[in-house]
Amino acid sequence: MTTPLTIVGGGIGGLSSAIALARKGKLVQVMERAGEFRAIGYGIQLGPNAFQAFQHLGIEQEVLGKCSLPHEGLLRDAHTAEVLLRVPMGSRMKECYGKPYAVIHRADLHQVLLDGCSRLGVGLTTNCELLNFSDDGGSVELETTRGRRVASALIAADGVASKVRSKLFNTLEPQKLGYAAFRAVHPMEKMPAKFGNNAVVLWCGAGYHMIHYPLRGGRLFNLVAVFDYWLDQARSSQTSLADRLIERFSSACEEVRELLGYVDLSQHWEIATIEPIGEWSKGRVALLGDAAHAMVQAMAQGACQAIEDSVVLAECLADAAGDETSHIEKSFRAYQGKRILRATRVQYMSRYMWELIHVRDAFSLLRRDLLAKFRESDVLEELSWLYGANGGKPRDIARLRYEPAL
Ligand SMILES: Cc1cc2nc3c(=O)[nH]c(=O)nc-3n(C[C@H](O)[C@H](O)[C@H](O)COP(=O)(O)OP(=O)(O)OC[C@H]3O[C@@H](n4cnc5c(N)ncnc54)[C@H](O)[C@@H]3O)c2cc1C
Repeated sequence: MTTPLTIVGGGIGGLSSAIALARKGKLVQVMERAGEFRAIGYGIQLGPNAFQAFQHLGIEQEVLGKCSLPHEGLLRDAHTAEVLLRVPMGSRMKECYGKPYAVIHRADLHQVLLDGCSRLGVGLTTNCELLNFSDDGGSVELETTRGRRVASALIAADGVASKVRSKLFNTLEPQKLGYAAFRAVHPMEKMPAKFGNNAVVLWCGAGYHMIHYPLRGGRLFNLVAVFDYWLDQARSSQTSLADRLIERFSSACEEVRELLGYVDLSQHWEIATIEPIGEWSKGRVALLGDAAHAMVQAMAQGACQAIEDSVVLAECLADAAGDETSHIEKSFRAYQGKRILRATRVQYMSRYMWELIHVRDAFSLLRRDLLAKFRESDVLEELSWLYGANGGKPRDIARLRYEPAL
């Protein structure tokens, strides 16, 4: 019997990889520690580059069927309400890159990925946490909460706090950045009409930001508020994070303060990332998605990059067919070689954008001045390295090989 390739982690990266590998004829199993394969109930943005990858996964139309297509992205100053930058989306972006910019409910995306896995016969196991592993050269032995298993190779899509990454490279705990995110999704009819615009709106404040967009064809309103709680660390012990969020937003314009009233203050997410790492694989084990290149969400690319990883990984494994260690190691090295510079660039640019979004005082004047120089056509050109299919050349999507631009 063939020994399966095992993917640890049933998030967007893990499930996309399972589809990509199964489409190459691989026997694949995914193990997830949670009781079910489920996404958190909020929205996610998908750049045109994600749709290039979905095309290769054979699920592009299915994903699109569940998406909303915003007509523009707006960067606005949260204090003055001024529009700092306008990013054309809708038909302009699609004409430029051949694929659209879209937003989708994470649960809908997860369902498409799970359906794809089921159609392709991927083994899906829940309540199965990877506790340890050892690569003996001929296979990988996995110790899980459901017993021991053997895999021909292990793909670690186990997220920013990847245990596999820690064990492989003996370091790299995720770094907290001192930012907390609060989210909400509401039926659109609950929202004042002025917030019903079909756009992705990012409000930039001093040490905070807010982002919102409609989901499910405008029936839902998705909202995220993020703030830097290390800026006022002194009071951390006395005041709750939610109260400090409200205080931080107190200098925002009326529209943003009104929106803050719709944020769910009962739970928050710690923003964590990792520094770019120079190695993504060792022997029969490879990292993928946030495990390899967790990034801040300033360019909305963490999941998009994980989806790209999955397509490239499967192509590399298919190229070096066979279960011999040399084949697998060669494939994983090829995968790393094709992906690491691009993912690192996206990590780096995301961090840069993160700083730009949150600047204070005179820096915000500088930001205003810098962004005012961009015309809409410049913005599309600037983004072509990220969204364009091949070397940033828009619309050239008919190539057989999948090589996202550096
Ligand atoms: C506020 C916010 C907004 C974002 N917005 C966007 C966006 O608009 N667009 C975008 O592209 N990205 C966005 N991202 C980033 C995106 O969510 C992540 O990059 C992406 O979900 C990573 O997917 P992943 O599969 O690599 O990891 P994860 O989604 O973290 O999945 C890891 C999975 O592995 C499982 N697991 C972990 N350890 C084990 C173990 N030992 N055994 C078994 N299972 C295990 C976990 O339970 C989990 O299911 C955002 C992130 C945040 C925080």
